[in-house]
Amino acid sequence: MSAAKSLAAPIAPGGTVGILGGGQLGRMLALAAAQLGLRTHVYCHDPKAPAFQVSAAHTLGEFGDLPAIAKFARACDAVTLEFENVPAATVEHIAQLRPVNPGARALRITQDRFEEKSFIQSLGLKTARFFAVDTILGARDAFAKLGGRGVLKTRRMGYDGKGQAKIASAGDVVGALASFNDAPSILEAFADFAFEASVVAARGIDGDFAAYDPPENAHEHHILRRSVVPGRLTTAQGEEAKAIAKTIADALGYVGVLAVELFVMQDGSLLVNEIAPRVHNSGHWTIEACAVSQFEQHIRAVAGWPLGDPGRHADAVMENIIGEEAADWRAFSRRPGSLHLYGKAEIRAGRKMGHFTTLSPLTKR
Ligand code: AMP
Repeated sequence: MSAAKSLAAPIAPGGTVGILGGGQLGRMLALAAAQLGLRTHVYCHDPKAPAFQVSAAHTLGEFGDLPAIAKFARACDAVTLEFENVPAATVEHIAQLRPVNPGARALRITQDRFEEKSFIQSLGLKTARFFAVDTILGARDAFAKLGGRGVLKTRRMGYDGKGQAKIASAGDVVGALASFNDAPSILEAFADFAFEASVVAARGIDGDFAAYDPPENAHEHHILRRSVVPGRLTTAQGEEAKAIAKTIADALGYVGVLAVELFVMQDGSLLVNEIAPRVHNSGHWTIEACAVSQFEQHIRAVAGWPLGDPGRHADAVMENIIGEEAADWRAFSRRPGSLHLYGKAEIRAGRKMGHFTTLSPLTKR
């Protein structure tokens, strides 16, 4: 196999960034690229993909269709993604033709919760205790070692609480594994956190690093409800969160925006829950509260441009608009603040339909 392509020079305005995935993250990336004079070409299997509505070009196709993927890649100057479960083989195929970031290594690690948590620990960072679980016997054994409450998660393809079950007994773990059709899983200790937080950060093509202030995040039914910045993190915890993101981004040789989801424990320590190799829902507030949003930052990074200033000029609260709440768009349109609707064809329960950001004067940096 020949070496993966890398960018020889920044993509000039008028050039094209390809985006694998056409959801709301792709849509907001495309809007940010347009602001920089760059065109986007979105690749997605869904004819009603929200990002198709705002991109210069699109291809309707499956990630496994390598001839279609190659044709798409050749139409772009560089390729990125908005969805971390793009098969690593697809990304490797593109890498032979065009620079693609984040690359196959970052995806391979973050697509498998066991690989991901092992990688995080290898960097000297803390996670909840975890055990690989493949069999009923292994599940019982892992539960005995855990000695308390846990969470069973499938190793692959889990998001927004899918492929996840709380465990309070050996019987629970056996039942949960069966409900996952015996898919390879991990059993994690239940983290009795004080609250959740995340850090959204970027690494540029030259290794530059820029992190946004970490928000506090509240989840409901496993879906992000609200991000608040500044949240309850102390200044020291905020700095530690940024340092964690830098350690991970450097170790991956990462290019682009990534998010690290954190548990802030009662004793003040930070545990890493997971790494999202993409722009992240908990960073949407950066559109209004920062000079350079996470979406612009990501496009800058993958296009080989210098990173922008991640500084925040306001406090912000970002609320997701989920499922039926979007039917109330008239009420949202009357509220003071910034309304984002993603152009999804239909409302479905639990589906992220939009978000709403409210700013207030800066209280803390
Ligand atoms: P995840 O799919 O790993 O991002 O988890 C989704 C959400 O489930 C997290 O944001 C937490 O609210 C909760 N959760 C996940 N893992 C744990 C854990 N080990 N202990 C407690 N809560 C968890």
